[in-house]
Amino acid sequence: MTIKKSVCVLGVTGSVGSSTVDILKSHSDKYFVDAVTAHRNVAALAATAIDLGAAVAVIADESLYEDLKSALAGSGVEATAGEAALVDAASRPSDIVIAAIIGAAGLKATLAAIRRGARVGLANKETLVCAGDLMMAEVVKYGATLIPVDSEHSAIFQVLEQKSADNVDRILLTASGGPFREWSMTDMMAVTPKQALAHPNWDMGAKISIDSATMMNKGLELIEACRLFPVPEDRIEVVVHPQSIVHSMVEYSDGSVLAQLGSPDMRTPIAYALSWPERIRINVPRLDFATIGQLNFTSPDLIRFPALRLAREALRAGGTVPTVLNAANEIAVGAFLSGKVTFLQIAETVERMMNKITVAPLCDLDQMFDLDDMVRRETLGLIDTGR
Ligand code: MG
Repeated sequence: MTIKKSVCVLGVTGSVGSSTVDILKSHSDKYFVDAVTAHRNVAALAATAIDLGAAVAVIADESLYEDLKSALAGSGVEATAGEAALVDAASRPSDIVIAAIIGAAGLKATLAAIRRGARVGLANKETLVCAGDLMMAEVVKYGATLIPVDSEHSAIFQVLEQKSADNVDRILLTASGGPFREWSMTDMMAVTPKQALAHPNWDMGAKISIDSATMMNKGLELIEACRLFPVPEDRIEVVVHPQSIVHSMVEYSDGSVLAQLGSPDMRTPIAYALSWPERIRINVPRLDFATIGQLNFTSPDLIRFPALRLAREALRAGGTVPTVLNAANEIAVGAFLSGKVTFLQIAETVERMMNKITVAPLCDLDQMFDLDDMVRRETLGLIDTGR
C-alpha cells in the first residue's frame, strides 16, 4: 500500500491550478488535498474545495470571506481569508505545495512553504525573478526541494538531473515566439489585448499570455533558469521554436544535446513536480512525429521583442534590477489589458523604469517588498502622467 501524499494548491482556480486539480482527481489513490487558495473567484474555489474534499479553502481578498463561508456552509471545508491566511495554508504540514499564484503576490506563501522544508512545485516564475538569490538561499537554508513547473525549466530539470553542471556547456531555452512572431513592427503597434491573449500553442492565463506575446515571458524564464540551475547567464541561449514540442535542451561538454519533448500541455510538468522522482500516468495527447513532420528553430529578434533584451540586461546588472523589471512589467501588462498603454509601450515602460531606478544590491526580503511596492506606484504614475 502506498502512503498518500497531501497537497496544497496555491492559486487553484488559475490555469496551472485547474490542471493540477485534473491530475489530483485522477490519482486520488496517491494524493489528497489539504488546502486550496484563490484570489477572488469564490464560486470556483468553493466548488473545487468541496469536489476535492480539502480541509481548508482560502480566499486572498478578505472582503469575500463571508461569501466563501456561505458557499462552504455544511461542506466540512474550513473557510479563511486574507494574505496571512494564504501564508497559513502554505505553512500547514502538507507534503507538496504547488505554488501557482500569479506574480509577486505569491511570494510570501511560497516562502512559508520553503521555510518548513516542503517540496514546492514552483509555477510562479515572478517570485524567482523578483526575489531570486534571496529565495534560493532560503531553499538551501531550510532544506526545501524546489521543482520547477514552468515547462521549459521542468525540461531542463529532467535532463540535468543526476548530472554535474560542470559538464554543461549551454542551456537552450526554447520559446514559441508567441502570436506576433512574424509580425512587422508597424503591425505590432496596433495589437489589441484580444490578439495578444490568443497564444498559438498554449492555453494560459492573461498575464502569461501577454508576457508570451511581448516575449517578456522568455526574459523572465531566462532569469528563472539562472536562479534554478548553476549555469551562468552567458551560457543560456534563447531559441525560437514555434511548435512548442521541444521544451528546452541542455548541451554537454562532449557535444551531446539532451532535450525533453512533449505535447504543449502543462499537465506533464505538473505531474512530474507531483510524482518526482517517480512518474505517473496522465492522459495527455501523445506526440505523433510523422504528423508533426518537422521542428523549426530560429534566433529571437531583439529589435521587435525588446523585452527579451531588457531581461538579459536586468540579469547582468543584478541586484535590484530584476525586481524593478518584474514589478514594472506586471503593472504595464495590467495597463495594456485595460487599454491604458499600447502593446509596444509595455516594454518601453519597463525600460524607462529600469533607467529611472538606481541599481543597488538586493540585501533582504523587506527591502525587496518595499522596492516592489515603490516601483508599482511609480510605474502607475509614469503611465498616468508620462513622467
Ligand atoms: Mg514557460
